[in-house]
Amino acid sequence: MSFAPQAYRDPATVAGLAATIARLAEQVGRPVRFMHVCGTHEHEIGRYALRDLLPASVSVLPGPGCPVCVCDATFIDAAIRLALDEGALVTSFGDLLGVPGSLPTPSGGARRMRLLDARAAGADVRPVLGVFDAIRLARERPRQPVVFLSAGFETTVVAVAAVVARGLPDNLSVIEANYYTPPATDLLTRLPGFSLDGFLLPGHACVMSGLEPYAHLPQRGLACAVAGFEPVDVLSGLVSLLEQVRDGQPRLANAYPRLVRPAGNERARAELERVFLLAPRVWRGIGVVEGSGFNLRPEYRAASAAERWPEAFQLSPNAHPAGCRCGDVTLGLIEPSACPLFGGLCTLDEPYGPCMVSREGTCRASALYGPSRGAIHVQV
Ligand code: SF4
Repeated sequence: MSFAPQAYRDPATVAGLAATIARLAEQVGRPVRFMHVCGTHEHEIGRYALRDLLPASVSVLPGPGCPVCVCDATFIDAAIRLALDEGALVTSFGDLLGVPGSLPTPSGGARRMRLLDARAAGADVRPVLGVFDAIRLARERPRQPVVFLSAGFETTVVAVAAVVARGLPDNLSVIEANYYTPPATDLLTRLPGFSLDGFLLPGHACVMSGLEPYAHLPQRGLACAVAGFEPVDVLSGLVSLLEQVRDGQPRLANAYPRLVRPAGNERARAELERVFLLAPRVWRGIGVVEGSGFNLRPEYRAASAAERWPEAFQLSPNAHPAGCRCGDVTLGLIEPSACPLFGGLCTLDEPYGPCMVSREGTCRASALYGPSRGAIHVQV
């Protein structure tokens, strides 16, 4: 088995899979709609123009797959307060520094304050590649409080669990802004008017979690395929989904076997469960989803910034930039272009809402590569 990316971008293989998809779509004989729940899928599908290879009857919709987009404004506001008011060095992934929270900017107007604005105002805010950079910065500055705004899904929180379990520097705290995707996927299936045929499941999340968190979906009549991110991976996942729909036999297929094992990464999961508990979590623009957030267990709460500075973590009544429809975009209810701010107040150069900021955001993908074709899958 090859791990060279070229093997998964091979034009002849891609053409063969596209022909198989066209044949299967004909055999199905009706329009089908699948959803992926991973921002990387949306960007790779757009980057390789894979939707252009699909028959008109096959739609692949973007779902709630971007951890930066769904990150609750409470976390961003808290990070800004800690940077401005407590003199903390705040670190996070580069995308997150550009996401607006709910606090007003010093100059007023519709836009909300970002960590980048706090930095422009003199606060110590720095992009990092991960928690290990934050540890290094904390060790270099033992007298300054350092905060790591830990966003991401179940794959990225494992590294945080590992370092928390081994002990962080005393001056380093973590903002627990990590999200667990299966409950949000489940939420979609319970929305009024839900009418998807299946899910293209996130390959990298399943490397960690395995297949079990999604095992109930086929029982609800939904085809499921775990897929990787190269063109051959995505199209192979779609072939599996269409076969399941054609045969009327939904199941949980693993179309990414070179990296995903059915049981996932048991050691990583054990590390995660040792340090974090699942808790209700606000998904920005969506609301509270039970069991979808990672909170530090009581024995590790000393590492929590919310424990150290509880007053910084006030819930905001204005948690979303006015007019931004990221919640509807994230749930697949509307195409980004249906947001009245798309291309006007909100552009690639000057994003207004989270889904345009993040490299995994659906609005950003739509602005870069074009629409995902035919969103609205539920009636509200
Ligand atoms: Fe939000 Fe901008 Fe997307 Fe509208 S176009 S939903 S404002 S991110």
